[in-house]
Amino acid sequence: MRFTHVYVEERALGYPLAKSLLEKLPDADVIGIRHYKDVFDRKRQNAVLQRDHRALIIAVRDGSRVFEGAPVCQSFGNQNFYYASSMMNCPFDCEYCYLKGMYPSSNIVVFVNLEDYRADIEEKLKDGPVYVCASYDTDLIAMNSLTGHADFWKEMAREHPDLLVELRTKAAVDITDNISNVIYAFTLSPSEVVSRYERLTAPVSARIRAAAKALENGAKVRLCFDPIIKINDYESAYKELIDETAAALDLKKLTDVSVGTFRISADYLNKMRKAYPDSEVAWYPYVIKEGIAQYEPGTDRAMQEYVLGLLGKYIGREKIFTWN
Ligand code: SF4
Repeated sequence: MRFTHVYVEERALGYPLAKSLLEKLPDADVIGIRHYKDVFDRKRQNAVLQRDHRALIIAVRDGSRVFEGAPVCQSFGNQNFYYASSMMNCPFDCEYCYLKGMYPSSNIVVFVNLEDYRADIEEKLKDGPVYVCASYDTDLIAMNSLTGHADFWKEMAREHPDLLVELRTKAAVDITDNISNVIYAFTLSPSEVVSRYERLTAPVSARIRAAAKALENGAKVRLCFDPIIKINDYESAYKELIDETAAALDLKKLTDVSVGTFRISADYLNKMRKAYPDSEVAWYPYVIKEGIAQYEPGTDRAMQEYVLGLLGKYIGREKIFTWN
């Protein structure tokens, strides 16, 4: 990804990762700042306009870095489920992404104090095995050649057998390792959803090929049919997607599969609607249930059941996880 402007916290400059990031972006204008929030949380910025000219912000993360998994996220049966936020915002631009309701900016923040994340996880590991989703508020695999964050989490997994790391992506990157406690989670959507709502992501066929190759190399692979988006004739679209996937790889060899219809916190949805008045996804008339916006219950259930039925032809139900 190309960045023309890089903001750097003064205190971040002492970290080797900050130096490496700056060396990889020799043509960018570099602007020193006191704190990343001075830029990222600034009032009256236009997140929509920023999407095509994102700045990179290099910073040190204080306070909480590893969080308990949110109720809208899946734990896949794991206890001690956390997610880590070592970057904020994503190089991709999915119209339905909750980050649009969560952050006031489209700029990308990379935290360089990864050793503090290491200490946080090691502290949690003292109480037993930990499952961490490291790539929730971003796509670490897509950014790895610049940031090395995905490599950091793989290294953490190598060092700590009790740590299970999920790296989720919409990129189509060759996975060449097969660390037993790292799960590569590829999100798959029908090509119509990709072209309409998943701007800048890899084509779905390329993601399927990358997942198949990772599986061949012995890596643990999860496929995420999540979020399922309601498009006209979603039945044919998801059937085509799952048939294409099953033709490319043996679903029985997957670690598991996740299925979930689109849902978002009602609070984030309100913010998305303000920021994106033309967004079809944001303005769909969702039903709010316990603070979560989702499709009307009949549609929601029908879509999920339909996709579960398609997958059931290829993989046992015990390996398929749903969010509700
Ligand atoms: S890939 Fe994921 S994190 Fe990135 S914009 Fe899309 S939904 Fe958001």
